Amino acid sequence: TSPLPSDLEIASAATLRPLEDVAAELDVTPAHLEPYGRDVAKIDLAVLGEPTQRHTAKYVVVTAITPTPLGEGKTTTAVGLVQGLGRLGRRAVVALRQPSMGPTFGIKGGAAGGGYSQVLPMERLNLHLTGDFHAVTAAHNLLAAMIDNHLHHGNELGLDLRNITWRRVLDVNDRALRNVVVGLGAREDGVVRETGFDITAASEVMVLLTLATSLQDLRERLGRIVVGYTTAGKGVTADDLHAAGAMAALLSDALKPNLLQTLEGGPAIVHCGPFGNIATGTSSVTADLIGMRGSDYVVTEAGFGADMGAERFFDVKCRVSGLRPDAAVVVATVRALKSHSGHWSIRPGKPLPDGLLAENPSDVEAGLPNLRKHIEIVRRFGVTPVVAINAFPDDHASEHEVIRRFCSRLGVRAAVTTHVADGGAGARELAEIVMEAAHEPTRFEFLYPLDLPLEQKIEAIATQIYGADGIELSPAAARGLRDYERLGFGGLPVVIAKTHLSISSDPTLKGAPRGWRMPVREVRAAVGAGYVYAICGDMRTMPGLSSSPNAERIDVDADGSVTGLS
Ligand code: ADP
Ligand code: MG
Repeated sequence: TSPLPSDLEIASAATLRPLEDVAAELDVTPAHLEPYGRDVAKIDLAVLGEPTQRHTAKYVVVTAITPTPLGEGKTTTAVGLVQGLGRLGRRAVVALRQPSMGPTFGIKGGAAGGGYSQVLPMERLNLHLTGDFHAVTAAHNLLAAMIDNHLHHGNELGLDLRNITWRRVLDVNDRALRNVVVGLGAREDGVVRETGFDITAASEVMVLLTLATSLQDLRERLGRIVVGYTTAGKGVTADDLHAAGAMAALLSDALKPNLLQTLEGGPAIVHCGPFGNIATGTSSVTADLIGMRGSDYVVTEAGFGADMGAERFFDVKCRVSGLRPDAAVVVATVRALKSHSGHWSIRPGKPLPDGLLAENPSDVEAGLPNLRKHIEIVRRFGVTPVVAINAFPDDHASEHEVIRRFCSRLGVRAAVTTHVADGGAGARELAEIVMEAAHEPTRFEFLYPLDLPLEQKIEAIATQIYGADGIELSPAAARGLRDYERLGFGGLPVVIAKTHLSISSDPTLKGAPRGWRMPVREVRAAVGAGYVYAICGDMRTMPGLSSSPNAERIDVDADGSVTGLS
């Protein structure tokens, strides 16, 4: 087989459909489209109030087994699947996160899918798109500025300088900004204190934007953001600082989802991009609601493996949206299953280990307990799993066969999908089994009720989803949880911030680890977004660049064509 052209070559050779035609497939009229330059438009949320002819759509989430640092193809599979559904004559829309510029310039490169399953225009998608991330950055930093201004003018609210949790954000990997001192200089230059920067994808404003269901809801959530505490332990909010109105004004356009198209001309909604480790890792509720109104199938991606993204998708996002998933696609790859055998180690930014690509069905077999665990996680929520065997060029049929046979023993539908090499035509079998699964009745249920104490919610996720024997709270975490219950945050859902490279909280444990306990180092509250998160392991909220970042390979030619994004 001849090698595939690069993502950029494929993207540049594509002819784009007029966006109004793409919108029509989503039952969105030009009156609700706000063009943002060529081939990109925002969709006015007023469309949600418009009548539609369509019956209830099916809601499909794309998740994965525990990935290697390279990613196993959730984005490409989500795009390929809607293209495959399109080939079968179904109306389908894909709802994805907007890539953060951190990884774009860091190690991962672009994130608009790959090969013949991409979203276009890919340069705009990977760079600024419609400026939503900049709006999040501006709104977040406006609140930070108003905090420091409040301190400068006498700190009437009594904020404890050592207990201000709101930091600043930037959409650039910049390790030198992780810890900074602000307010240096003369008296009129502000109050000196230590703080730092996170990447924009880690901003609470970013998650909040994904979960807000209307402008009104956005405004209220912004007001509830807790920026820090008084010395007496009382939370100080964005509303206390009178900042939330201006933040909402900055974000009113960013709340509208962005319409783009797949390589095969179907609708693709790209909106928001919260981190998958400390945040929810899902695209927006508004995007999914627009898709559900105007399409037959909404396919959306949830970050990392089913232990992380899918659990939060079910327990946090679906709780807010009221939408119920009809099927979950679990993406599996030969390379990741080989890595779960424990015989191979795949490192970020390093070439694949010698011999990894050789035909080796027995190592694939040895990694299958990881796939089984992710299937069980999906089933735990009452959702029907479908396994997508994402075929890479160097895979061997015998290796795919091992996965197929295993799935059939578990009673799970599975298909090999070649959407990257073949576009929607390569995802037809996958599309067929997803349709079958989505039409079966679901018995969806949340993992925990909201009135369970926070500690028990964390324990439920650790033991029932991750397979831990229990949790170990540090004294600080135990104190934090008691404080949050006292402050009235006890009814919020929880998010566990942990590594994505293992189902456990230890990145070196492969497969489906048993016999371990999950250490909880610290807890934090994202009250505006609406969850409490538990930090289990070393979490970077401001990544650094490697010795040879992808930024070194990105350039623009005299005609304005960008190279090096993928
Ligand atoms: P995820 O969304 O799970 O992180 P992506 O879809 O972004 O994964 O894919 C990760 C990387 O692997 C991307 O560079 C993508 O182009 C590449 N990739 C995914 N699937 C395939 C495939 N079947 N063949 C070749 N490359 C692929
Ligand atoms: Mg992805």
